[in-house]
Amino acid sequence: MDLDAALEPVLGVARKFAHEVDVDARFPVEAVEALRSSGLLGLTLPTEAGGMGAGPHELVTVVGSLAGACGSTAMVYLMHVSAAMSVAAAPPPGLPDLLPSLATGRALGSLAFSEAGSRSHFWAPVSQAERAEDAVRLNARKSWVTSAGRADVYVVSTLTAAADTVDLFAIPATTSGVSVAGEWHGLGLRGNASAPMTVDVRVPETHRLGAAGDGFGLMLQTVMPWFNLGNAAVSVGLSSSALDAAVRHTSAARLEHLDQSLSALPTIRAQLAKMSIRLACTRAYLSQTAGRLAEPQDDTMLHVLGVKAAANDAALDITDAAMRVCGGAAFSEHLQIDRYFRDARAGHVMAPTADILYDFYGKALTGQPLF
Ligand SMILES: Cc1cc2nc3c(=O)[nH]c(=O)nc-3n(C[C@H](O)[C@H](O)[C@H](O)COP(=O)(O)OP(=O)(O)OC[C@H]3O[C@@H](n4cnc5c(N)ncnc54)[C@H](O)[C@@H]3O)c2cc1C
Repeated sequence: MDLDAALEPVLGVARKFAHEVDVDARFPVEAVEALRSSGLLGLTLPTEAGGMGAGPHELVTVVGSLAGACGSTAMVYLMHVSAAMSVAAAPPPGLPDLLPSLATGRALGSLAFSEAGSRSHFWAPVSQAERAEDAVRLNARKSWVTSAGRADVYVVSTLTAAADTVDLFAIPATTSGVSVAGEWHGLGLRGNASAPMTVDVRVPETHRLGAAGDGFGLMLQTVMPWFNLGNAAVSVGLSSSALDAAVRHTSAARLEHLDQSLSALPTIRAQLAKMSIRLACTRAYLSQTAGRLAEPQDDTMLHVLGVKAAANDAALDITDAAMRVCGGAAFSEHLQIDRYFRDARAGHVMAPTADILYDFYGKALTGQPLF
């Protein structure tokens, strides 16, 4: 597998359109097309299904690089990977072509978990599904779905009323009753179409991932580790681009009356140093977490909980510092640092939110049950 050969052309396209995607708040169609044809939509999926069979370290590389080029593209990609990994873990028997389609780029996937009723508590859907003979009637109002109206399949969570358990269903976008129910106007990640959706469908039970009631376990054991790792990689990619831009600008910008650059000022230099050190620490934690997913150890879950919160907070601080050291030049948008700053704010509130993760981490650390 030549990862660079697959990734480089996609990065070129993502970089080229990133500013336009942000300004116009439009879906990154060009970069997503490039991802489809690159094979990278199947990065972590099994080779038998047509995927690349790569692991957590490669995901960190791809997602982090994409985020450094275009945050919206990176998040669209990550939601696809998160949905695809849940399908790979428990392929729905009624959709035998789904996994190969997700692996080869024919299908773009996304997750439809969040609901207005349970907000960021994604593990607790309040929508209800009911069994009707050999079919399931699902009626859910999802509050934010990345790639809404753009994905080919949505992995949708619901409470199955009779059993009081959580199920995940793979719902093709062409299913009657799947519709986008609003618009997306975000502070950051403005291109990722994270709009509300209504999923009012009747589907065969064989669209379910795993056995009845397996949804909660799939969310926690499969989706959360991949999503948290990838989301942390988005934060690191954005932080890295913000730091690079800040170093470039402060090195080039001149104070002519003093005959020196901005980076010759000790305060600016110290800020850059702190940003760089924080980024290096976060990268190391991210790499360690990828290792824990590749070869699980006793503290793997602690890493899964900690890495997203740590990387999300680091990204808030690093992009904020980049805005600060670049002053009006960053504020006036032409450095793109404002985009990294705005995009970085999304990771923090995406569920599981950083603050929920700190609480979970504290519970896990002290031997208390998470739920
Ligand atoms: C760009 C973007 C893309 C998204 N894409 C998707 C998607 O593809 N699929 C999907 O399902 N969802 C998606 N979401 C939704 C996301 O995962 C969250 O559900 C959503 O951001 C939560 O927002 P809220 O205002 O409802 O949070 P609230 O739950 O109202 O949280 C408000 C604040 O309370 C804090 N809080 C809540 N509970 C606790 C607790 N127990 N302990 C400590 N603090 C707590 C939170 O951390 C937060 O700071 C997306 C969100 C964004 C911003």
